[in-house]
Amino acid sequence: MSYVKKFQVEPGARIQLDKIDADFKPKGLDRDEAEERIRELTVELRDLQHLMYAEDQRSLLIVLQGRDAAGKDGTIRHVFGPMNPQGTRVTSFKVPSKEEQAHDFLWRCHKAAPKRGMVGIFNRSHYEDVLVVRVHDLVPKKIWSKRFDHINAFERLLADKGTIVLKFYLHIDRDEQLERFKKRMNNPKKNWKISDADYTERPYWDAYTEAFEDALSKCSTDIAPWFVVPANRKWARNLVIAEIVADTMKGLNMRFPEPEVDIEEIRRKYHEAERAG
Ligand code: AMP
Ligand code: MG
Repeated sequence: MSYVKKFQVEPGARIQLDKIDADFKPKGLDRDEAEERIRELTVELRDLQHLMYAEDQRSLLIVLQGRDAAGKDGTIRHVFGPMNPQGTRVTSFKVPSKEEQAHDFLWRCHKAAPKRGMVGIFNRSHYEDVLVVRVHDLVPKKIWSKRFDHINAFERLLADKGTIVLKFYLHIDRDEQLERFKKRMNNPKKNWKISDADYTERPYWDAYTEAFEDALSKCSTDIAPWFVVPANRKWARNLVIAEIVADTMKGLNMRFPEPEVDIEEIRRKYHEAERAG
């Protein structure tokens, strides 16, 4: 079964995260083999991105969500790092600024959506507005509960413009999160990543589970599917995401555009120039 099918949330299906194994290992592939495959895939992804940029017809939006330490930053580095920076744009969504708060919740995300030819990566996204906002009652339920429809309409708008939308929930379990916090604490090169939020959010684990399950269930559509990616093992996570993105991009049957100039004419001019020296 392709990874697209295996990990995609069926539109309308009710997701239960505790039924999904965060420890998943691909069958018949050990870690070294998987890492070799990831290297191949990142080369493929780089070429596909180049083609998307050259074709300049469609764009790709990758949405990364997950709990603290789920591996959003690592995914960007390992899976999308080899792409050409000229054709990609990463946007990390933080606590909204005053300016952002004065607008509707989609405003900052719409501004960051990838234009034709580009790959856009959202490190967190408009989904924060039905996750952290819901868990901490930052706005009343009356407001956030309407946002699922707004999100689906927004993503449809992007799709109608030619944007492919792929959304990944990086699924780690409680023990793995604590293990990663420990590494952040004990490795001086990781200390900077620790935030108070890591610890203040952990007691809300179950409330987040409920919020994620709702978002994944209500907003996985044919044009903007959610994927639940088992992410306790970083290499398995990278493999699954790289396979799904490569598969999807290959399916677009993109073509290099016809040159805007007459190549025969250019050839003639070139030979003239060559003769003239
Ligand atoms: P990080 O991704 O670790 O840099 O943290 C960014 C922080 O911003 C996280 O704690 C998010 O929950 C928070 N954040 C992002 N978007 C929103 C939002 N719309 N409302 C409130 N907090 C947000
Ligand atoms: Mg963080």
